[in-house]
Amino acid sequence: MFNLILFGPPGSGKGTQSERLISKYGLKHLSTGDLLRSEIAAQTALGMEAKKLMDKGQLVPDEVVIGMISTALDNNPQAKGFLFDGFPRTTAQAEGLDKLLKLKGTQINAFISLVVSEEELVKRLLNRGLTSGRSDDTNEDVIRARITEYKNKTSIVADYYKQFDKFTEVKGEGSIDDIFNALCKEIDSHM
Ligand code: AMP
Repeated sequence: MFNLILFGPPGSGKGTQSERLISKYGLKHLSTGDLLRSEIAAQTALGMEAKKLMDKGQLVPDEVVIGMISTALDNNPQAKGFLFDGFPRTTAQAEGLDKLLKLKGTQINAFISLVVSEEELVKRLLNRGLTSGRSDDTNEDVIRARITEYKNKTSIVADYYKQFDKFTEVKGEGSIDDIFNALCKEIDSHM
């Protein structure tokens, strides 16, 4: 199995690059943001609770997202590997993920962080809000709150992977093709 974490702030291009990477490497894409939006669309109790936090740009509780990832891992026993997008976002989630993967006899092989400047992130997210249908992309205050959550709670997750020598950074600005090629180079070096 090959398991990859594609890391980076909101708007760094994780979703766009994930689509291409899963098709090239045959991985199963697991985006906690997408899983939560499916819960909201289905109007489940979990989705309705999560929406209140997502609309404010705040993180959903660790146990909720770890539970969703656990279910997704169980539901995909044939997967060649997983691409985690938007997860883990806290150190507790990173530890939870390690435990879940260990139970399946596997582990994280690579952690790649996309680096994009804050002004570029805000510009991209406001632009995405014109077409994404995501309410959290249309309001600049919510966008800035999401970036603050990233700085305060999520960016330290990188340190967790640095201690295991699994951490790499890739510049997330430039053409989509160039960023994709830089990501592939890093992935290939970990395979
Ligand atoms: P995303 O689609 O990854 O930008 O996530 C959208 C929103 O969903 C975030 O602003 C959080 O409110 C919530 N969310 C997604 N993934 C997580 C996670 N791993 N931990 C906590 N909250 C999350």
